[in-house]
Amino acid sequence: MSTIVKKYGGTSVSSISKLKNIAQHILEDYQNDNSILVVLSAMGKTTDELITLANKSSKSPNPRDYDMLVSSGEQISASLLSIILNDIGVKAVAYTGWQAGIETDNEHSGARISCIHTKRIKADLSKKIVVIVAGFQGINSKEDITTLGRGGSDTTAVALASALKADECQIYTDVDGVYTTDPRICRKARKLDSVTYEEMLEMSGLGSKVLQLRSVEFASKYNVPLRVLHAHKDGAGTLIKKEEKKMEGALISGIAFTKDEAEIMVKGVKDQPGVAAKILGPIGDAKIEVDMIVQNVGSNGLADFTFTVRRNSLKNALQVIEKNKKIMRYDSVSSARNIVKVSLVGVGMRSHAGIASKMFKCLAKNKVNIRMISTSEIKISVVIDQKNLEIAVQALHNEFKLEKK
Ligand code: ADP
Ligand code: ASP
Ligand code: MG
Repeated sequence: MSTIVKKYGGTSVSSISKLKNIAQHILEDYQNDNSILVVLSAMGKTTDELITLANKSSKSPNPRDYDMLVSSGEQISASLLSIILNDIGVKAVAYTGWQAGIETDNEHSGARISCIHTKRIKADLSKKIVVIVAGFQGINSKEDITTLGRGGSDTTAVALASALKADECQIYTDVDGVYTTDPRICRKARKLDSVTYEEMLEMSGLGSKVLQLRSVEFASKYNVPLRVLHAHKDGAGTLIKKEEKKMEGALISGIAFTKDEAEIMVKGVKDQPGVAAKILGPIGDAKIEVDMIVQNVGSNGLADFTFTVRRNSLKNALQVIEKNKKIMRYDSVSSARNIVKVSLVGVGMRSHAGIASKMFKCLAKNKVNIRMISTSEIKISVVIDQKNLEIAVQALHNEFKLEKK
């Protein structure tokens, strides 16, 4: 008998007929005598709609009640699936995050799971009851509901799989696996049979939203076997696993991109020690995440300091810079909202030189101007203008021969 955790994303549970279809799949596994725990996202765009309601109610909704509101979408889908399963003769029970024993820290809207009390769900599973858990949520030490950040149901599933020592954590979604790049932007994208935790960490961290970054961190830390599959089509999907030494890794496994970037240029700062700290200190204090950073030496001992932030933090970041003008001492500030980050990811990069220059040549050939570059052992990222996103992804996909064979 195997223990399997199955997570279904929003698009895959957007109607009663889809939920009924999923119930039939669960019935098959149930009849094969497996212990099954199901994690559900909210139906379709429910979470977006709840967020809109909160933002219409207040300019800055208080975090506690905001989380109580946005977590409610998952309660609907989880309870509906339980109703459907019981109706077709499968014993099932639906739980909210806290009923399932999921404890988190106190960070509303981006909480981290700190511990899972599995007694109740283990008791159900041992009685062959299908346990359905509302994803994306837990309870904090003040007994308030918290949510785990957008896409957080992936993390609920992986954390439960780890706590139950499940044989596999299956993430069902609207694509049939992890692709070399987002199949919605590059028709030639190829499905990968397997990908290493490390590569998936980079892909998720660099924008491939197919798995929430935290879920991959969790899976990699606790070695949870993770598989991405299509919710309504058959297929083996993509297995995410540890790197095997004997494997000759592909040079590049994928291309990730993020569209929600913004660039800030602080011009005419003193070119002397401490400048970066003076600018980034107040930005960090305001809890604004900074990604890429470049400092160009200008003339007369002055430099330009450029960095990127999430687009929805841009306004806040510009206000912080304006407020701290006396400390930062700059001439002027400008910003760009229409930029994106494109990244090549692959463990094979470790042992191959020349990938970066091949990437830059390919972009130049396609008249894509690079604004910023950053590299690590297994990735190269460039910031480019948003209008060039599709050209760049498709050209790189061709250049590195990632297309369908
Ligand atoms: P869910 O609602 O099931 O959680 P998401 O929308 O979060 O689904 O993630 C699935 C989407 O991720 C796909 O529809 C696809 O457009 C996008 N995606 C981005 N990069 C990739 C990739 N490399 N492979 C597969 N899908 C990707
Ligand atoms: N419903 C939440 C969201 O839309 C969590 C999830 O789907 O994983 O972000
Ligand atoms: Mg998702």
